[in-house]
Amino acid sequence: MKVLNKINKGNFIKKFTSHPDYEAGCYFQIDIIEGCPYDCGYCFLKHYLKNPDIIVYDNLEKIQKELASTKANYINLSVTTDGSMLSLFPGLSRKLFDILRKFPNKYFEIRFKHKKVMKLLELDPPKNVIFTSTISGITIADKLEIGTSSTIERIDALSIFENSGYKIGIIMDPIILYEGWKEEYGKIFSIANKKLSRLWRFGVGLLRLERSIFPIFLERINNSVLKGKLLGEFTHGDDNKYRYYYNYRINTYKTVLKLASVMNIENILFYMEKKDVKRQVLS
Ligand code: SF4
Repeated sequence: MKVLNKINKGNFIKKFTSHPDYEAGCYFQIDIIEGCPYDCGYCFLKHYLKNPDIIVYDNLEKIQKELASTKANYINLSVTTDGSMLSLFPGLSRKLFDILRKFPNKYFEIRFKHKKVMKLLELDPPKNVIFTSTISGITIADKLEIGTSSTIERIDALSIFENSGYKIGIIMDPIILYEGWKEEYGKIFSIANKKLSRLWRFGVGLLRLERSIFPIFLERINNSVLKGKLLGEFTHGDDNKYRYYYNYRINTYKTVLKLASVMNIENILFYMEKKDVKRQVLS
């Protein structure tokens, strides 16, 4: 993969693209890196980014002016890449952190699947940076998220961030259902509960796939140990994505939240889900 340095001629702060009937979980993003060296079988970037290279935007000074004039107070910094990629560009990340430090009332999320994100600690990120990790089933991380760190290594990285004084979160998105997933999720929560004190953010979102990604995903499954082991059927949702059926999703979220109840959780969020799902699940 080539790295291309570019100037962002538009705005850095962008609104999430989401269907009006669905809640997104997070509503604003800043992309200073686009592209990812890892290879997750369900990744939406394959649908969204046309260029296989890594693009790095250098003109970060614009961000300060944009932050000063926006009401957005929670912004994700890792939508078009994995958050760990920031650690490969220390000069850029330091510059970014110096800007974010000036906005202590806003939060900035760095979500990661690779433990090299811990290198960012050497740059002393401000404490309004929230470190979250996408936590997948152990088999999914191992077989379908190629090049990333294992589920347990991600939890270990979260523990180091928490012990360094940062707010942390676990985002289980996408949740993919396969034979043995409940046992694996139970094990994950048991380990996470021993290593982490408090989840400031706990997010859940079941697998959904763009029309163009759906056949690629199925092919990846059929070429892996997960062949014949996926559970649940998919339907074409009103947001034009393939998803599990509504009632199946409700029941699955209830199961995940029950398993998660061993943990100290401050905020529960639903990612790219119909707006009434949270009420249905938590009622
Ligand atoms: S780590 Fe994230 S951005 Fe990278 S391939 Fe996986 S899903 Fe896509």
